[in-house]
Amino acid sequence: MLSSDTLGPTITFGEILVEIMATTPGHGFGQALDLRGPFASGAPAIFISQCARLGGQAGIVACVGDDDFGRLNTDRLRADGADVSAVSIHPTLPTGTAFVRYRPDKGRDFVFNIAHSAAGQIAMTDAARALVARAGHLHVMGSAFAIPHLWALLQEAIPVVKARGGSLSLDPNLRKELMTPDTAARLAQVVAQADLLLPSGSELQLAAGLPEASEAEAVAALLAVVPEIVLKRGDQGATLFTADTRIDQPAFAVTEVDPTGAGDCFGAAYLTARRLGLANPLQLAAAAGARNVTCLGPMEGAGTLADLTRFIAEKDPT
Ligand code: ATP
Ligand code: MG
Repeated sequence: MLSSDTLGPTITFGEILVEIMATTPGHGFGQALDLRGPFASGAPAIFISQCARLGGQAGIVACVGDDDFGRLNTDRLRADGADVSAVSIHPTLPTGTAFVRYRPDKGRDFVFNIAHSAAGQIAMTDAARALVARAGHLHVMGSAFAIPHLWALLQEAIPVVKARGGSLSLDPNLRKELMTPDTAARLAQVVAQADLLLPSGSELQLAAGLPEASEAEAVAALLAVVPEIVLKRGDQGATLFTADTRIDQPAFAVTEVDPTGAGDCFGAAYLTARRLGLANPLQLAAAAGARNVTCLGPMEGAGTLADLTRFIAEKDPT
């Protein structure tokens, strides 16, 4: 069962980055390009930003450099109302970066600097332990499974949060190509303890450990373990599955400017609405995902409750 917001903040662990985008579609970065950025980014940071903007308590364990890219992110999260006390500042390594260029076919080419940036130095500091000790909910990003020492931090944090009545959610956020036997075992361990699962597309089957299963088979297998699953379907909307309900949420019709961050905003809005007891969490989540794709920058479209309420009223409110 998901804990109430009053128990303590929703927290997550992971990378804080700036994102710098090519202004023209094409393939890669093999020549001089016009770029736009830096924008605050990193999937866990996008998630926490949306939680906080919606009015939930939220905090993040992360590491940034002592540079403008780091300050841009921490200033942004602090302004959103997020707890950045567990964001440590590395004295020498730069803040993580992601350069992205959209291909004409909507694929993306990246140049990342994450593992060897400050983002790779995330650690269980005293400030991180203090945040974990008062957390009400822990959200796990599947991308964290790829970072070996991050798994140790999660193994420490999950039992602490659970022991005080806190809940756990998982966005598998994992490409099939990143699945190793280790990753699969870690994923299964988190799934077994999760109160909410937020997969998109074939991550549903990966989370079920049944790569060849149909959607219905994977959902049935997962519902034996996890009480609440929300399957994200991009511009096709989303579906909530519990033991006795299925609710299909259509997508809001929008012009897509920048698809990055939709899943994180959607998941954060759903979880926060559930923890705050807001009406119609699924619709609010769909509005958060759709609104975010209308803005350039991975978290520039994360909305407050007032923004999302207005967005829903202006769009087809089905
Ligand atoms: P990400 O690319 O950030 O990892 P994801 O694959 O986890 O995203 P999506 O399914 O792409 O998640 O998006 C989450 C939700 O946001 C969708 O279920 C939908 O409600 C909304 N959404 C995403 N893209 C669009 C769109 N183009 N138009 C309308 N709504 C959208
Ligand atoms: Mg995703």
